[in-house]
This record gives sequence, structure tokens and C-alpha cells, in this order.
Amino acid sequence: VCWSEHGGWHRPRVQPYGPIALDPAASVLHYGQEIFEGLKAYRHADGSIWSFRPDANARRMQASARRMALPELPEEYFIESLRQLVAVDGDWVPTAPETSLYLRPFMFAKEAFLGVRPAHKVAYYVIASPAGAYFPGGVSPVSIWLSTEYSRAGKGGTGAAKTGGNYAASLVAQAEAAEHGCQQVLFLDSVEGRYLEELGGMNIVLVKRDGTLVTPQSASILPGITRDSVLHLAEDRGHTVERRQVSIDEWREGVANGDIVEAFACGTAAVITPIGMISARDFTIGSADAEPGELTMSLREELTDIQYGRRPDPHDWMLRLDA
Ligand code: PMP
Repeated sequence: VCWSEHGGWHRPRVQPYGPIALDPAASVLHYGQEIFEGLKAYRHADGSIWSFRPDANARRMQASARRMALPELPEEYFIESLRQLVAVDGDWVPTAPETSLYLRPFMFAKEAFLGVRPAHKVAYYVIASPAGAYFPGGVSPVSIWLSTEYSRAGKGGTGAAKTGGNYAASLVAQAEAAEHGCQQVLFLDSVEGRYLEELGGMNIVLVKRDGTLVTPQSASILPGITRDSVLHLAEDRGHTVERRQVSIDEWREGVANGDIVEAFACGTAAVITPIGMISARDFTIGSADAEPGELTMSLREELTDIQYGRRPDPHDWMLRLDA
């Protein structure tokens, strides 16, 4: 779909995958005026195709659009774009366990203009790509690297928007994590460098011995839909959930004195992933060969069962895309 200041949203169509022609002065290429989303289509046992809380992705994309001075795509257009793509590419939704069709809606400024101002011409696309199981050999804990030199987002910045620049800002830190044998990077707040923010592409939740779940509250992290869902499921089970500032020292001391018994990362790609070890320049927390936590794994099972239609969906989170 295209958008222009005078014409609004127009020209919806499904086209074969291929390159997009852009003017060399298209403002996205210079100023990064761009946003995206990520969600999955799941095949249920009867062959039907569903997505998980696409309304939440649509609303988050609207919030990202407001922050990035892009037009808000109406929720019904967002959902319709997924339906139309699945109508054409539905055969691509794989059937093997834990596989899915990854959907990547994105919007960018295509107006050719070298001045710095919001563009008046925008394009919205969705690409679809079959995704294998994230953990083909069974879920294994991730190791994470604590970045102290870099922050992902500052106060008043774009941290809560799903925009490419946030990911660009995290690439060197992600590379540093890989050099230290870690799969993900952990960012702290940019003001005091003490409070947990999130990982490169996932939110964080800690589990205390008494069953309380604690997750960072911050205006500069991406409000993850997986995290919101998992915390709802935990609350349904009677767990207390604390959304507040959590410092790295609280995590470190909590693990040392047995008060924090599990930690997991969550996001669309890996669903829920146990965190085994945190490595920092001068200390480590946990161990790389830690067993996945019990609550972590049971919440993971409950959420994936809902997504794959293996158990009831009490919150009406699933939306059928092929009917
Ligand atoms: N934080 C970041 C930086 C992410 O890229 C993602 C993945 N979209 C998440 C958190 C988790 O969000 P969600 O559960 O909506 O996938």
C-alpha cells in the first residue's frame, strides 16, 4: 500500500517477491524514517491458519508511526494485509511442529527529498518467510553479554518504537556479545547504567523463589507482545507480577542468595527462552549449562499450545487469517 499526504492510503496489492525501486534521495535511506513489526502465522491441526494478537502488533505499529512522524496505518488495513498475503502464500505456512510463517510488515518514507522533515510519501509492505523451529534440538538456555559501553536507547529517544535505528545502534554491542560467546546482548538504562532494559531483540523477566515475576518498566524499551501475554498467563495462574525498575545488582545478588531462581527472555522469534548465564567484564551471573527453569518451560508450553491451537484460548488472542 502507498500513502501520500493528499491521496491517503491507496494501491493495495499482493505482488511477487522482488526488489523495490527507490529514488537515491528517498528519505528512508538518509534519515532512517522507517518502522516495522514481526509476527507469525501458525497452522493448526485442522489446516486452518491463525495469527497471535495481530491487533496488538497493529497498535504498536501505530505508536511507532507517531514517534517516527509516519502516518498511522488503520488496524483493519494491517489485518487485511496479513489476510491477503496468507490467501496467496498460505501453502507456505509449514506443518512441522513449532514452525510458522514469519510476517514482517514495514513502512518507510520514500519521498525523494534531501531536507530533514517528515516525508509526504510513504510505502507499507509485508513480507512472508517460512520459519523453522527456533530450537530444533529442544529448548536450550541462552548466554547473554552485559553491554556497559553502549546503550540502545536514550531518554526521549526512539527506544519504545520498532524502528531500524534502534537495531542499528545495537549492532556493535551484539557483535561484542558474539565475541564473548554470547547469543544476545543485555542493555542497561542510558542514564544511570544500572537498570535492566532489554536484550537485542527480546524482553526480560526474572522469577523469584516465591513465584513473583519481575520485569523492567522503562519508557525506552519495546513493549513486547510476548512478554505482555506471558505475564497475563502467569497472573491467571495466581502469580504476582511486578513491573518496575530492576537493577543489575538486584539480579546478581538475588541469584547469589537464592531469591531469584529463574530468568527468561521473550519475543516473537524464540517465544520464551531460558537465560542461562550473564557475562559482564568483571563478573558472571548463573552458568551456561543451567537447566531451563520449571516455570519458564511451563509458561512456554502454555503459550505455544495456545498459538498452535492445542489448548483453549481464554483471552481470544488468536485471529483466523484464512477464513
Ligand atoms: N525487544 C526488542 C528490541 C525486540 O526487537 C523484540 C522483538 N520484536 C522484543 C523486545 C519482543 O517483542 P515481541 O514479543 O512483540 O516480539
